[in-house]
Amino acid sequence: MANFNIDAAKERTYDAIVIGSGISGGWAAKELTEKGLKTLVLERGRNVEHIKDYPTTHMRPWEFEFHGRMPLEVIRENPIVSKCYAFKDGADHFFVKDKEHPYVQEKPFDWIRGYQVGGKSLLWARQVQRWSDFDFEGPARDGFAVDWPIRYKDLAPWYSYVEKFAGVSGNADGLEELPDGEFLRPYPLTKVENYFKDHVAENYKDRHVIIARCAHLSEPKDIHREQGRATCQNRIICERGCPYGGYFSSNSSTIPWAMKTGNLSLQPNSVVASLIYDEQKEKVTGVRVIDAITKETSEYFARIIFVNASAINTNAILLNSKSSRFPNGLGNDNGLLGKYLAFHNYRANVQAEYDGFPEFTTEGKRPTSGYIPRFRNVRKQETEFLRGYAAGLVSYRNTITNSGGMGSTLKENLLTLKLGPWKVGSHMMGETIPKESNYVKLHDSGTDVWGIPLINFSVDYDENDEKMIQDYFDEMTQMFESAGFTNIRTTDSHQAPGLDIHEMGGVRMGKDPATSLLNEWNQMHHSKNVFVTDGACMTSTGTQNPSLTYMALTARAVDYAVKEINKGNL
Ligand SMILES: Cc1cc2nc3c(=O)[nH]c(=O)nc-3n(C[C@H](O)[C@H](O)[C@H](O)COP(=O)(O)OP(=O)(O)OC[C@H]3O[C@@H](n4cnc5c(N)ncnc54)[C@H](O)[C@@H]3O)c2cc1C
Ligand code: SF4
Repeated sequence: MANFNIDAAKERTYDAIVIGSGISGGWAAKELTEKGLKTLVLERGRNVEHIKDYPTTHMRPWEFEFHGRMPLEVIRENPIVSKCYAFKDGADHFFVKDKEHPYVQEKPFDWIRGYQVGGKSLLWARQVQRWSDFDFEGPARDGFAVDWPIRYKDLAPWYSYVEKFAGVSGNADGLEELPDGEFLRPYPLTKVENYFKDHVAENYKDRHVIIARCAHLSEPKDIHREQGRATCQNRIICERGCPYGGYFSSNSSTIPWAMKTGNLSLQPNSVVASLIYDEQKEKVTGVRVIDAITKETSEYFARIIFVNASAINTNAILLNSKSSRFPNGLGNDNGLLGKYLAFHNYRANVQAEYDGFPEFTTEGKRPTSGYIPRFRNVRKQETEFLRGYAAGLVSYRNTITNSGGMGSTLKENLLTLKLGPWKVGSHMMGETIPKESNYVKLHDSGTDVWGIPLINFSVDYDENDEKMIQDYFDEMTQMFESAGFTNIRTTDSHQAPGLDIHEMGGVRMGKDPATSLLNEWNQMHHSKNVFVTDGACMTSTGTQNPSLTYMALTARAVDYAVKEINKGNL
């Protein structure tokens, strides 16, 4: 019997374990397997195979029973996820439904999740902007949160590394505050966006309008063809899954690549409950897993563990990894695990119209939009609030149908479509300040169906966010007015935190184990064979969409971890 147990443990032992198969976990799997490590990826959700499991990807609009919208009953049953713009007929099967995975909201938090192989990489909007030194230096300069242990130069080669493989369309804009990357052909700005770009360049020193960088194959290179991916067809129904691999996802890119090495074991329906800390060996030896369907428990072992369950779930797994050495959660000697949570502020937007360029319109679609990189408090503190915001910019024209008249006049009117004025819209992407009072913790008594403690959120906006919103309204209105845009309207959605879907922090990086959980290599200060490279590691949030930074940090951390293994340090 003893032999049987030894054999069973051996069978469940790998060189590396990755928890989660989303954007960051996919990268961990690719890098580890390419470097020759037998790697087990544990994923709580079902398997989703590229192309085969995209049931709605070729459906026509008229084939949807509810014409792309969700029935009222579903909305009523799912008040949280229904708030997400991408939760619609055709993609709803990739979203976590509210009832199935409850959590506790000490304060309202709209938590949007994708539990399946590929995680939220099947749902994301694919916007990928690099950070600059202004972002990495922010905390040290402004005195909020703690100093990042790295700077742009540490990550720059890794940004290049992941951009080349993932495929990023963009323009080399030469901006210090938004460094250029390894770009494929950029998508175009519209006539009005180009006009606004010129207007801003002429009138506002240090403000820029550019085309946003996005993880789409505008012109595939050999490395993308090798992945079996093809040119993006600009269909803009990406959240249904793209059969062409036109955008980057774990499913189309990193996971199949890792699979081809022969070193990957991918295990869906495996909910990781906690990490196993061995008091004698003074390190983590493996993970405890609950089968999502049978609810049976099992243990898997490895030399190194990458925790990539998406920020909040990563926090929860570590908080639930209790031992007599770490009674408050793994590596949590300073009590900061789960704290200094941060997110983005996407509450504000500005709409306007433009009567100019009546002879122009847009043609076809594009999978991205215009972008105004952060221009507030970049080089010096110039406002009453800390940090700043970037802004999205879109413009388009609606068709107007005249349904007046009778008989042949009505027919003629209906067939004569007219274009309305240009509509211009902008949305704010603000940085929130990580604070100790913004936290997640495990609920004292409530558990989920697998017996794992529920996650308790206490996260909110503050005065800094309110001041930032007002500044965005003032500045954007002024820029729009001076460009001759009319009918300008500002809207604050007053949505709860979370709907920005950029969960970050709680297991932050830093120089000092007294004030952070991870070192400059995303390695736990107090448990060296555990690496956290998803959003949980973020010390501050920047204004940029975060996932590209998780990818770069992950590739960099794997490179370090494997070198440490080879040196015999792990
Ligand atoms: C509609 C939408 C639009 C977005 N747009 C953008 C954008 O334009 N740009 C951008 O940068 N980001 C965007 N995001 C956010 C982006 O998707 C996330 O930042 C990114 O997916 C995070 O990667 P991750 O690996 O940390 O998590 P995920 O991709 O969510 O993957 C985590 C995986 O871990 C699994 N998991 C969780 N808990 C456990 C457990 N206990 N055991 C085992 N497995 C577990 C999950 O099932 C999931 O598969 C968007 C997200 C959404 C939903
Ligand atoms: S826009 Fe591009 S990436 Fe998105 S579904 Fe269409 S082809 Fe695929």
